[in-house]
Amino acid sequence: MELTEEQREGLEKASRILAGAQHVVALVGAGMSAESGIPTYRGQGGLWTRIGEPDPRAFQNFAADPKGWWERMLDRDRNPQSPERSRFGSSMQDAKPNPGHYALVDLERMGKLKWIITQNVDNLHRAAGTKHITEIHGNRTLLRCVHCHFRIPRDEFEIDPHNLPPHCPQCGGVIKGDGVMFGEPIPPDSLDMCIQQANACDCMLVLGTSGTVYPAAGFPLHALQRGARLIEVNVDPTPISAMVDVALRGPSGEFLPLLVSRLRELQVQKAV
Ligand SMILES: [Zn+2]
Repeated sequence: MELTEEQREGLEKASRILAGAQHVVALVGAGMSAESGIPTYRGQGGLWTRIGEPDPRAFQNFAADPKGWWERMLDRDRNPQSPERSRFGSSMQDAKPNPGHYALVDLERMGKLKWIITQNVDNLHRAAGTKHITEIHGNRTLLRCVHCHFRIPRDEFEIDPHNLPPHCPQCGGVIKGDGVMFGEPIPPDSLDMCIQQANACDCMLVLGTSGTVYPAAGFPLHALQRGARLIEVNVDPTPISAMVDVALRGPSGEFLPLLVSRLRELQVQKAV
C-alpha cells in the first residue's frame, strides 16, 4: 500500500501513542472479518439485507422451547439449508485470519495489547493465536450454559439427539450456542470483562467497527472519559472518528502490521 503523507503522519503518531501506553485494549468490529472474506450482516450485499433480519424474539423462542430449537439445529446440520444462508455459513467456515489478526497476536506477545473485545463471532482471533479476548456476541464454534456461562467447543461436546436440550456438565443448566441471539442479553461475565478492560486501558484501538451497535459502541467513549487515547483504523469515517486521537483510513490488515513494525523500531531505539 502506497501511503499518503497524511497516512504516514497518522501512523507515526499512532505508533508513538502505542509506545507510551501500558494497557492497550482493541475493540474489533465486522470490518476485520470482512477483510477475511466474511460478508457483513447489514448493508449492501449483507446476509440480512438479502434474506431478512433474524427473528427479534429468537431468544424468547429458544427459552420457551429449547428442545425444539436443538431439534431444528441438528436437523439443519443434517440437511441442506437455504443457498444464501449456507453460502454465508461456508464463508465463515472457510475464512482464515488476515494480517490484521496476526498483528494483534504480535501486539499481545509484545506485552502491549492486554485484551481484545470483539463483536465478531467467527473465531478468527483465537485461530490466529490471541489468548486474551472477550467475544461480546459469542463465538460460533462454542456452546454456552445459559445459567453459569460455562463454555465448551462444540466439537468437544457430545450431544445426545434423544436427550435434548443438552445440559451443562458444571451446573445442569440448559446449553445453547454461544452466539448471542436477538433478544438475548450479553452474557454478564462478558459484559463485566469489557467494562473492566475499558476502565483499565490507557489506549484503545478501535478497529473496523462502525461504532453504532451498543453496548460495544459505548466502550471507546467510556475509555476516553477515563483519559485513554483512542486510535481508529477503519476504511470509512465513523461516528467515533471525531473523538479519536488518530484516525487511520484503510484496512486493519494493512495498517496494523505497519504499526507493529514501527512500534518495534521505537522500542529498539528506546532500549539503545
Ligand atoms: Zn452451567
